[in-house]
Amino acid sequence: MTDPTDAKTITMTDDTTSGESGAGAPRASLPSRGTSLGELSQHDGPTAIVTNAAPGISVTGLQAYYGSGHAIKDVSIEYAPNKVTAMIGPSGSGKSTVLRCLNRMHEEIPGARAEGSVLLDDADIYGSSVDVVAVRRAIGMVFQKPNPFPTMSIFDNVAAGLKLNGIRGVDLKERVEKSLRGASLWEEVKDRLSEPGIGLSGGQQQRLCIARTIAVEPQVILMDEPCSALDPIATLKIEELIDDLKQRFTIVIVTHNMQQAARVADTTAFFLAGELIEHAPTNSVFTNPSDSRTEEYVTGKFG
Ligand code: ADP
Repeated sequence: MTDPTDAKTITMTDDTTSGESGAGAPRASLPSRGTSLGELSQHDGPTAIVTNAAPGISVTGLQAYYGSGHAIKDVSIEYAPNKVTAMIGPSGSGKSTVLRCLNRMHEEIPGARAEGSVLLDDADIYGSSVDVVAVRRAIGMVFQKPNPFPTMSIFDNVAAGLKLNGIRGVDLKERVEKSLRGASLWEEVKDRLSEPGIGLSGGQQQRLCIARTIAVEPQVILMDEPCSALDPIATLKIEELIDDLKQRFTIVIVTHNMQQAARVADTTAFFLAGELIEHAPTNSVFTNPSDSRTEEYVTGKFG
């Protein structure tokens, strides 16, 4: 699993540090809802353009490979703006691979490649001149295991998202507080911001990682089984948070927990052996699936 703490990812962020303002000088524009990445970078400054409307993602004919292994087979799917889309399916069905293709993390795995089109609104994130750093800033990711930077304080963990992305010209304290509030963690940590992030409980650590992700003001948040390491109460908190976050972000969540998909997702996509079998409103996937394989899976006959 690629992780934001990987040296590779950190190195890539160097690309955004050029430019006087430090707000990033994109190599190419990644238009989104009529804006360019240059305009998107205005989110970094004190004059940030704040809008609750997030773009959707449209995937067409996605193929993903690990060397000669064909993991994702001709997947086309729409992730609706400001909605939660859950991806379910048995282990190995390709959920995480599809997720990583949505912000070009897949290509970081040696030997891995993807084909097809992934549009953020109307911008092809695989376009030849698109800045991959900008893609990952616009489409953030939260991982299965909470991964706060072990030597950093709570405050610095959140600020790290900004620093790693080369974002300057921001009131750090204000952005950290806003992000921690956005992750429903502020009240629990506001009096101990200088304490180590790893001193928090597992659920708090995951919310800290969500705060780190939203600190750079992405448009889409990808979550790869974000609750699988958490207890039921911490899980519930994250699920409530996801419901809250969709007011501002488009959310895609991989989960092996069908109850979780039923609780949090507006639509659910069922994957099997690298193919998308069905994608429909969550209620319909669980109560009236159109494909017999979906029905067998959601009723526990396999997987
Ligand atoms: P899921 O998330 O549904 O469990 P994955 O996307 O992890 O499924 O895996 C899809 C397929 O790709 C599986 O056959 C898996 O073995 C393969 N795969 C996943 N990651 C790698 C990797 N790093 N190297 C080689 N094959 C991989």
